[in-house]
Amino acid sequence: MLGQMQSQPLLISMLIDFAERHHGDGEIVSRRVEGDMHRYTYADLARRAKRLANALQAAGTGPGDRVASIAWNGYRHMELYFGVAGSGRVMHTLNPRLHPTQLVWIINHAEDKVVCFDATFLPLVQAVHAKCPTVKHWVLLCEADKLPADSGIAGLLSYEAWIAGASDQYDWPQFDENTAAGLCYTSGTTGDPKGALYSHRSTVLHAYGGSLPDAMNLSARDSMMPVVPMFHVNAWGLPYSAALTGCKVVFPGPAMDGKSIYELMESEQVSFAAGVPTIWQMLLSHLAANGLKFTSLRRTVIGGSACPPAMIDTFRDQYGVDVLHAWGMTETSPLGTVCTLKNKQLKLPPEEQLRIRTKQGRAIFGVDMKIVGDDGQDQPWDGQTYGDLLVRGPWVMASYFKGASDPLVYDEAGHGWFPTGDVATIDADGFMQITDRSKDVIKSGGEWISSIDIENIAMAHPGVAMAACVGMAHPKWDERPIIAVVKKPDAQVTRDELLQFYEGKMAKWQIPDDVVFVESIPLGATGKMQKSKLREQLKDYQLP
Ligand code: ADP
Repeated sequence: MLGQMQSQPLLISMLIDFAERHHGDGEIVSRRVEGDMHRYTYADLARRAKRLANALQAAGTGPGDRVASIAWNGYRHMELYFGVAGSGRVMHTLNPRLHPTQLVWIINHAEDKVVCFDATFLPLVQAVHAKCPTVKHWVLLCEADKLPADSGIAGLLSYEAWIAGASDQYDWPQFDENTAAGLCYTSGTTGDPKGALYSHRSTVLHAYGGSLPDAMNLSARDSMMPVVPMFHVNAWGLPYSAALTGCKVVFPGPAMDGKSIYELMESEQVSFAAGVPTIWQMLLSHLAANGLKFTSLRRTVIGGSACPPAMIDTFRDQYGVDVLHAWGMTETSPLGTVCTLKNKQLKLPPEEQLRIRTKQGRAIFGVDMKIVGDDGQDQPWDGQTYGDLLVRGPWVMASYFKGASDPLVYDEAGHGWFPTGDVATIDADGFMQITDRSKDVIKSGGEWISSIDIENIAMAHPGVAMAACVGMAHPKWDERPIIAVVKKPDAQVTRDELLQFYEGKMAKWQIPDDVVFVESIPLGATGKMQKSKLREQLKDYQLP
């Protein structure tokens, strides 16, 4: 017997329709590439997204066609999110930090028909456009009078002129909720980049899940700043969660330095922000150097790589800001877990709480997870036993875009699980903790050593700006950990002092064998440490 409720497909257009109708005067504030500030409302956003949908129609694109962006976080990018997907096309965000040859590869693989880009990326587009035969229209996100006459890109359009010529009357089409809506490629640190193709259903459910109180706890009372780029896993779904909740949105545009972020947070009274640890490190340094405080920021979601406990502490003790540590990946839309305490944990002493807050957190409703051993068998949830982390759920990828093989691992019941490539523990309360990416795991004398634990301790030292732990081949123990450290400017810290700093904080055999001071640690296109590159840099290094 079927239920007797209305059957309505979950579509991205529902989100923008809702925001327009119920939060029409809700604000969207953007720092523009042009350098000035721009303000408008959800009602304006909805109208312009409809113009864009009409413009895309007139440009000869149809359902399922990929429309790409190379853009900072801003209102025009958000219009693309809704206008492209809402009209049945596929929003494909390109990461401008990738190497141009990788970008060309991705654009051709995705067969993008239109590419819209910020003025910052004009030189990049000039370098790649001739190698992208599928792209019929290149659109510069600018006013008509800012369009360069001699760009060398045939038929280059100004976004503003393009959509101004289209009507804002448009009925969002209805279609199957499983229709493709968005495409993001992983950065391809191992092999060619791979595309995760999100559906309308997965995107709407992910926005619901991400807004829950035990996830990001978003509401119409928030002023929200996505610092995580919209070209990186849809800024963790925040533009969609924003429309779902009607919160104010504050976009930082290209100004990602500590001073600019801080000033914008203060002037727009941002209550909630999201970003990767490296960005918050810059923000905290700016605050410390200038004796500043936050007057409105209450919570920040930090993820993408492990958030050092010292950062969680500093945010809370010095600035009264709650850090929500979160884990996810491109293939999981990305939100998988968020670390929020349970009621019984609120009375624990601060050190105990910090131990929990350092973990990547509990599964959001909709995501199921487990850890398995080398034999594929489930490992216990005791907070000690390591295993490969597997996840499943309605916003977890089933297969890669144009992928030839099935990436899932099947259990006895026939359920497919996505292998994350992460190694983790899960405790009895369901808090998951990543110890490593499987390719970065360090095995010494048959025992695993968590490189994240080693990095976290180094990061708690006042003289350390950044730290990366890698394993080095060892004749007796197979591998031993060493830690590469970037000192803070003017810090005097020595090798021996840092090694002593580990004593009492971890078992003796887990303490790194050596400290190597480096100028910088190689970062990838999404701001993560690239340990493969670091290992290359250290190829002539000898253990003491
Ligand atoms: P890419 O795969 O291109 O690096 P993703 O954003 O998809 O980009 O990266 C996902 C990976 O990032 C995860 O599998 C995990 O290794 C790492 N990661 C994400 N969040 C965290 C976190 N909070 N702590 C530790 N690692 C994390």
